[in-house]
Amino acid sequence: MKIAILPGDGIGPEIVAQAVKVLNALDEPFELETAPVGGAGYEASGHPLPEATLALAQAADAVLFGAVGDWKYDTLDRPLRPEQAILGLRKNLGLFANLRPAILYPELAGASTLKPEVVSGLDILIIRELTGDIYFGQPRGVRECPDGPFKGQREGFDTMRYAEGEIRRIAHVAFQAAQKRDKRLTSVDKANVLETFQFWKDIVTDVHKEYPDVALDHMYVDNAAMQLVRAPKKFDVIVTGNMFGDILSDAAAMLTGSIGMLPSASLDANNKGLYEPSHGSAPDIAGKGVANPLATILSAAMMLRYSLGRAEQADRIENAVKAVLAQGLRTPDIYEDGTRKIGTEQMGDAVVAALAK
Ligand code: NAD
Repeated sequence: MKIAILPGDGIGPEIVAQAVKVLNALDEPFELETAPVGGAGYEASGHPLPEATLALAQAADAVLFGAVGDWKYDTLDRPLRPEQAILGLRKNLGLFANLRPAILYPELAGASTLKPEVVSGLDILIIRELTGDIYFGQPRGVRECPDGPFKGQREGFDTMRYAEGEIRRIAHVAFQAAQKRDKRLTSVDKANVLETFQFWKDIVTDVHKEYPDVALDHMYVDNAAMQLVRAPKKFDVIVTGNMFGDILSDAAAMLTGSIGMLPSASLDANNKGLYEPSHGSAPDIAGKGVANPLATILSAAMMLRYSLGRAEQADRIENAVKAVLAQGLRTPDIYEDGTRKIGTEQMGDAVVAALAK
């Protein structure tokens, strides 16, 4: 099994090195190959997504990605900026399903802005459609308003649309993910107002016939936003469109209060995927050895579960992370009185040590 390792910029190389250490400790026949991406890609070959890096990602069974971006590239033309590498990888690899778990380990309940009893033990998964919806729908632009009270004035407009096949494939990903968890799926829509999302609801309901073991319910997005902060533990898996998912997944991430803990996966139709922490390249702390590598290590666990068919190894890593937190070991971003502050490398070593137990 070939894994493309793309560390990127800022803290990317430091945190990815810890995940690689953990992967190597599993004693599996993985072939790991590293390539530059983002600002590092631009430095190496004048483009944030060098051809050789894209070719490696296409040939691999899965991609482990760190983070890209640095303020020093802000003056480059937009197509040359580090963040373009992510869009290029999504597009070229056909990554249409974004999976973002929001997990709050009981030991970190104090990090959330919500009351501990509301979030302690939280374990939900948000699945966001990533390549359709109003973000990509055509036509779009600025034109002369053709009707209504503002007729003749300039207006901005976008198009919300979802094809049946687009909804079916994300619904299958969601039902299958629910089957691997608590077998409950909430489809979030705005069917009361939007034709696109009435259609979405109808198609998800139809796909449900193939997954009778999963309980499906539907929720309007405004109510879902409210329930996410009122009683987030009631959810298991949430599936929704690109725009609603963009907003809800960030809200869910902040329930946990610790950006350094959150992994993510972006999958194609064959479960090949790109795995990365939900945070950015954190240039403010790069090179200081203090970044939290757990989001990246947990992203590697997701890679084992969703792309490499090694669920038992994924469980081992996740249990090792729980054990390390239970030992009271913390990087500065999750440090509290009464725990022990350690650096990036020590955290990686602690997870490897916990794996061995
Ligand atoms: P960021 O997520 O990099 O950092 C936000 C804050 O969280 C910073 O204070 C940072 O120190 C802290 N932080 C982030 N990850 C951490 C970790 N693992 N451990 C401890 N603290 C951590 O977001 P930003 O500052 O808005 O962006 C910085 C750069 O990252 C920009 O160039 C941006 O474009 C890029 N970015 C990249 C990605 C990606 O690669 N997928 C995502 C978001 C932002």
